[in-house]
Amino acid sequence: MTNENPLTKHYNGKFEKQEQQAPGLQQKMTPVPDCGETSYKGTGKLTGKKALVTGGDSGIGRAAAIAYAKEGADVAINYLPFEEADAQEVKAVIEEAGQKAVLIPGDLRDEAFNKELVEQAVKELGGIDILCSVAGEQTAVDHIEDLSTEQLRSTFETNVYSLVWLIQAALPHLKTGASIITTSSVQSYNPSKNLVDYAATKSAIVSITKSLATQFGEKGIRVNSVAPGPIWTALQITGGQPQEKIPEFGQKVDLKRAGQPVELSDVYVFLASDSASYVTGQVYGVTGGVQIN
Ligand code: NAD
Ligand code: MG
Repeated sequence: MTNENPLTKHYNGKFEKQEQQAPGLQQKMTPVPDCGETSYKGTGKLTGKKALVTGGDSGIGRAAAIAYAKEGADVAINYLPFEEADAQEVKAVIEEAGQKAVLIPGDLRDEAFNKELVEQAVKELGGIDILCSVAGEQTAVDHIEDLSTEQLRSTFETNVYSLVWLIQAALPHLKTGASIITTSSVQSYNPSKNLVDYAATKSAIVSITKSLATQFGEKGIRVNSVAPGPIWTALQITGGQPQEKIPEFGQKVDLKRAGQPVELSDVYVFLASDSASYVTGQVYGVTGGVQIN
């Protein structure tokens, strides 16, 4: 087997400027992000497990959901109702892999919905072994004077409050050996000046991950986080970056290009699997080289 060149393995050119309203549809992006639809191959690492993935319609959550199914898990995904077209594509890939796909649209900023989401996933899957929180909101604002209370609240509700509500709802259903995976960011450690609210939520996610790893250790429930670097997803072209930053998005990292969601898949699978039996309270960077500590 020959080595693959990480610099050229995925698209490494300039991106066309393109703007959609949040949350956007990745099927309308150019190029369409690679979430492992054909590029990820499973080997039965999660056979018989049941996973709930938030943000599973697109981007990194979609890559996790697809990889989980290809590794033998049944998968429920959550997303916003607007994203139904992306979610239907994911359902088709999960079913093609021979696994059950459960679609549960709804807004995570609503506390009661988090409970309904967990209850429905438990009912339709028969339990939850992998709770994978990937949903997130990011809107760049240059000056703090322009950061509205509405945005501040919404970013914290989606990224932080819902993580707590989701785990509270899921805990009674999580058995020994279950795995909770959160999604932080390089922004947890190196906040950009135009992502004041978002970066703060991502630091909070690291903190919550570490607290809960300690709290749940004696139950045999592991809690870890994945910290992505610049990944080509809908988040970035729906206001996550200013449009003028889109063409060169990702090119400043050591590996000189944006990552694709499928490049996160193996880490989400590892943390979910029994192979990670001695791994908890950790943050795994998949960043193209950006340091995360
Ligand atoms: P994405 O837009 O494809 O996925 C984000 C998803 O969050 C959306 O598909 C949507 O379903 C969900 N979401 C947003 N608000 C919601 C709400 N109120 N209720 C329910 N669902 C909601 O983009 P992505 O980049 O794959 O984002 C996934 C995660 O990765 C986010 O947590 C993001 O912060 C994190 N992340 C992304 C990058 C990157 O460069 N793309 C870098 C670091 C971290
Ligand atoms: Mg989406």
